[in-house]
Amino acid sequence: MAVIRAAAAGTIGQGVDAYAAAMDGATMPAVRWHARGDVRVEQVPAAPAPGAGEVRVRVAFCGICGSDVHEYLHGPFTIPTRPHPTTGAMAPIVLGHEVSGWVDTVGSGVSGLAVGDVVALNALLPCGRCPQCAAGAPHLCLQLGHIGMSADGGLAEALTVPAAMVVAAPPGMAPQLAALGEPFAVALHALRLAGSPVGRRCTVVGSGTIGLCVALLLVDAGNEVTVLDVAEERLAHAASLGLDARPVDEGVRGGASVVLECSGAAPAVSAAVGLAEPGGTVVLLGLPERPVELDVTDVVLREVHVVGSMSHLADADLAPALAFLARNAELAAKVVTAVVPLDAAVSGGLEALVGSDRARHAKILVAVGA
Ligand SMILES: [Zn+2]
Ligand SMILES: [Zn+2]
Repeated sequence: MAVIRAAAAGTIGQGVDAYAAAMDGATMPAVRWHARGDVRVEQVPAAPAPGAGEVRVRVAFCGICGSDVHEYLHGPFTIPTRPHPTTGAMAPIVLGHEVSGWVDTVGSGVSGLAVGDVVALNALLPCGRCPQCAAGAPHLCLQLGHIGMSADGGLAEALTVPAAMVVAAPPGMAPQLAALGEPFAVALHALRLAGSPVGRRCTVVGSGTIGLCVALLLVDAGNEVTVLDVAEERLAHAASLGLDARPVDEGVRGGASVVLECSGAAPAVSAAVGLAEPGGTVVLLGLPERPVELDVTDVVLREVHVVGSMSHLADADLAPALAFLARNAELAAKVVTAVVPLDAAVSGGLEALVGSDRARHAKILVAVGA
């Protein structure tokens, strides 16, 4: 598979040589992770012209994710400090994997995408060769890369990616809404692992961005949904989206047939098992900072199904997530609590998500080319 930034001289597609020459030596503003606590807004080499099978996307909006905050505060986790086996890239890396934008240039051999199309990006860069890739599970690739982690991402004016990562937004969709495609796809993937519940009692633990996305999708599918959190501000935000939001101590033991743990907070992860009814399912999406204790006896004696959920797939998750967003634009847009310009992505974005007011925020979008 072609990888990001692969379009060096000699690999660029037909008909784009003149453009590539014009871009040669050009720079663009971007948000780059250099080291833990060191993320800079700076000029970087411009996104290369797309090679065969690639597309250059001019970024409209890019969301800041909990995983970006994780890399900022405590990384590197996913960001490679030696060349990544699939992408060849390493730090410093341009952050950003929740990307919407417009097709800017189409490489040779790419069909179905035209210059100016509003698109959302699938964030995964699988190796394409391992057993998981061969089995149709690229999100579980043994050498999985991600844009904005192991290849330059979308907190930049533009990026060049394999065309397979580019999903056209539904007709007329605003780029700001399309930038929510990735987090809603992550949520939808978790629901598929929960057996796509319909008409069931569901508890969502954690009402940050992913918790809200999960809850909105569950309600849309006709489920009875309770959202639990410890922070009053987050509960108030969830309630303003029409959700039944309650303090975490109101969670009922055995009260849900499906529990979706979206907080990653250690006490919440272990408590999530208890919230499931016998034979129920617990889907874990949150990433705890360190190993968490689980009451395995409770899992065994009550046959609780504990499932991990990793990211999303372009066709099965991102495309339907975009369709959901098209149907629920006004409600889904309320997941966004702030929109900041690119030059404020650190001060008003990452810092806002780690500061004392962080519970006031769910999704912060960076407006890049909007
Ligand atoms: Zn994310
Ligand atoms: Zn693979």
